[in-house]
Amino acid sequence: MSHVMNTYGRLAVAFERGEGVWLWDTQGKRYLDALAGVAVNAVGHSHPKLVAALRDQVGKLIHTSNIYQITAQEKLADRIAAASGMDSVFFCNSGAEANEAAIKLARYYGHKKGVETPAVVVLEKSFHGRTMATLSATGSRKVQAGFEPLVTGFVRVPFNDLEAVQRVAASNRNVVAVLAELVQGEGGVSVCGDGYLKGLREICDANGWLLMLDEVQTGIGRTGRMFAFQHYGVMPDVVTLAKGLGGGVPVGACIARGEAATLFKPGSHGSTFGGNLLACTAALTTLEIIDSEDLCRNAAEVGQHIQTSLKRALAETPGVRDIRGKGMMIGVELDRPCGDLVKTALEAGLLINVTAENVIRLVPPLVMSRAEADQLVGQLAPMIRSFLLKAAPAAA
Ligand SMILES: *Cc1c(COP(=O)(O)O)cnc(C)c1O
Repeated sequence: MSHVMNTYGRLAVAFERGEGVWLWDTQGKRYLDALAGVAVNAVGHSHPKLVAALRDQVGKLIHTSNIYQITAQEKLADRIAAASGMDSVFFCNSGAEANEAAIKLARYYGHKKGVETPAVVVLEKSFHGRTMATLSATGSRKVQAGFEPLVTGFVRVPFNDLEAVQRVAASNRNVVAVLAELVQGEGGVSVCGDGYLKGLREICDANGWLLMLDEVQTGIGRTGRMFAFQHYGVMPDVVTLAKGLGGGVPVGACIARGEAATLFKPGSHGSTFGGNLLACTAALTTLEIIDSEDLCRNAAEVGQHIQTSLKRALAETPGVRDIRGKGMMIGVELDRPCGDLVKTALEAGLLINVTAENVIRLVPPLVMSRAEADQLVGQLAPMIRSFLLKAAPAAA
């Protein structure tokens, strides 16, 4: 029996090495990686610049402490501020921790305004993490079941429904912030409407709420811009990051602007590992590579190409309900549960993922080329067609 706690349904494969969008398992079999460690390996596997920077840093120092000055952390914060237009950054180690920081920030902000039981508006089908506060914020009973009592102070509304947020504003004086994903990743790759963020900004301004965006999955070039909010010409007050930020090394961030940027004082929040030398070197180098290789543009163009090619290949395929996404965050919704496709694809040397039971999720490394994208679609489209012929349609 394995001594690893049984918290994951794992596939029977282990990888040994990688290069760009390719992975090799311990038997030497090659796979095209359209999952990137769930939107983590932004610059692909074993990027030579990232490998060199990490090797160099490990040879000098891995960790000191936030008790001391950390130059790489200062530089990384400067770089994130410049790329986002935000003011200050708190560093942590994961997406859940980044959202914990945001939720704490919102509560702190509320208390400062004299709200004794501050609440945060969250969305249905959202995913914010597995810690107690973030699973309470998450809009999925599956994530919460068995872990009650949940953390209170969240008010839930449907995704993409501004009127529902308005109704909360009119009736609930405890609300101090909204926490939203602009493309819901775990929720099935659902993209918010064009006017949604602007509408949220207006409601937040009218009520003195913080507009907080969970960009743990959408951030760092994933949607074809460095941050998903940059598609909409609207500035948020708080943004959370993690997945792609360190190119595979665990690093998360909660970034803030304006009043929210200066609320925390020494002692308000902290993390032992957060923003250490290894993590900051990984993130700085990842961001440098994204800029120097123009990977946001690549994600936009190749991502669009994948979507268009899939639409063409699967046009008039009964059972394909929708193909959607932004940049290199793409979902193919089928009319039935399709978790079995993950194994079929694995056997064929293709790494994909299924979320929300019936949505195939593609979040490849941002370095994927057009030719590699063609290979992906060339393999995936026939696989979907034959799955739909074999698998029984949903009863519904
Ligand atoms: C993955 C994810 C998280 C949780 O990140 P962890 O690093 O697993 O804690 C939070 N929010 C979103 C939108 C995510 O995709």
